[in-house]
Amino acid sequence: MPSLQTLLDQVDRKVDEIVALHRSLVRIPTVNTGFMPTGNETAAAEFIRDWLANEKVESSILGRDPDRGNLIAVVPGRQKKTRLMLMSHTDVVPVENESKWKHEPFSATVAGGRVYGRGASDCKALLASQLMAVALLKRNGIRFEHGFRLVAGADEEHGGRWGFGWLADKHPETLESEFAVNEGGGTAIEMGGAIVYLLGVGEKGRLEVHIRFKGESAHASVPWTGKNASYGLSEALKRIESYTPELDTSLPLFDHLSEFAIEDRPTPKNIDRIIADLEPKNRRLATLLRALSRMTLTPTMIKGGIKSNSVPEMIELTCDVRTLPFQNDEYLRKQLDDVLKDIPDIEYDIDYMSVPNQSPFDTELATSIKKAQALAIGRDDIRWAPMVSNGFTDSRFPRNLGIVTYGWTGVHPTDDPTLTNAHGTNESTGILSLVSATKAMMALTYDLCGGR
Ligand SMILES: [Zn+2]
Repeated sequence: MPSLQTLLDQVDRKVDEIVALHRSLVRIPTVNTGFMPTGNETAAAEFIRDWLANEKVESSILGRDPDRGNLIAVVPGRQKKTRLMLMSHTDVVPVENESKWKHEPFSATVAGGRVYGRGASDCKALLASQLMAVALLKRNGIRFEHGFRLVAGADEEHGGRWGFGWLADKHPETLESEFAVNEGGGTAIEMGGAIVYLLGVGEKGRLEVHIRFKGESAHASVPWTGKNASYGLSEALKRIESYTPELDTSLPLFDHLSEFAIEDRPTPKNIDRIIADLEPKNRRLATLLRALSRMTLTPTMIKGGIKSNSVPEMIELTCDVRTLPFQNDEYLRKQLDDVLKDIPDIEYDIDYMSVPNQSPFDTELATSIKKAQALAIGRDDIRWAPMVSNGFTDSRFPRNLGIVTYGWTGVHPTDDPTLTNAHGTNESTGILSLVSATKAMMALTYDLCGGR
């Protein structure tokens, strides 16, 4: 049987095939607006099913709605249990203003070593590399001690209620696995010649606060006969703007700052100074440290008033809140009570959009990922740090089922992460990263599942 290195060398000769597969996926417009009917992920799932069938890999499509299918492929090993799940999602966010795009968003145009299109980065690059890795392992007749699965879910961009959330709830057996890898981490930061990969071990929580300001309607020509709700809003906004969140440096990333040549041991007292020093040298890292050392409370939407000549009786302010993994809604409530103290005639409620979640950093999966990334880019000087991301992905669903799940996509360190522009205009992925990711997924699966 071929050695792992021989398998990895094959990937370099399959670049055209990887790019073609990736472009086919981008050309399927699986746009998820969040309002049914939407997504149409079944079109992508059927494409993947047929593509895998060609490689003699069996898969099935399961969905809460016939048009919103989730693709589940299982490659069995000698042992019954599945050891690894390769996760991704098939839906993409809508295109905001097509006229700003250099290339038509679903054309998957290749230019300057990149493939452009909505979903080219999020998440069809990861999906293409996982599919190609599975196909190449299969073509080479590799047998596995432990089985693995590939699951491409629907609806990641709108909370996963038709995708991984639904699978975890109604069909947890389809996700059964010891370990999983998904989007939401694995980017590289270069600092002083060293290269540090950030392994996504967790996610901040996301909550929404709706604050309602109550007044009394009156004709705007005699405003003193009513009570204008907008003045309560104005006071609340001022206080939220000057709110100072509690600082915290207990997340695992802060134990690894020496990897970035930061010598000071971070504490809640000195963290803002460390961030200020870092800002001119590495803005990306500074932003990450700022986001991971505090809760954020951000006003995002205002709704109110019914007529331009009426004193508004009701105004609602929506705030986006990102909490650290150990801050719950009770913590948020205490903070809000303090911030909004003594503003009359208001009430608020809190909605959980995503509960914060975390996997341990020191696991067999991490060891295997480190080896795989080194092989994929041919470097043995990579350093690693555990990262909690400010956004959230489907990873919270397997984590809640007890599956150790990491955000790791195998990208190439010289592929500029600012060009990917996920969710933005001219989203793209570097072909260099499609290749390194295919190698990375292949090496991980081979190693962790006992390929031979
Ligand atoms: Zn995504």
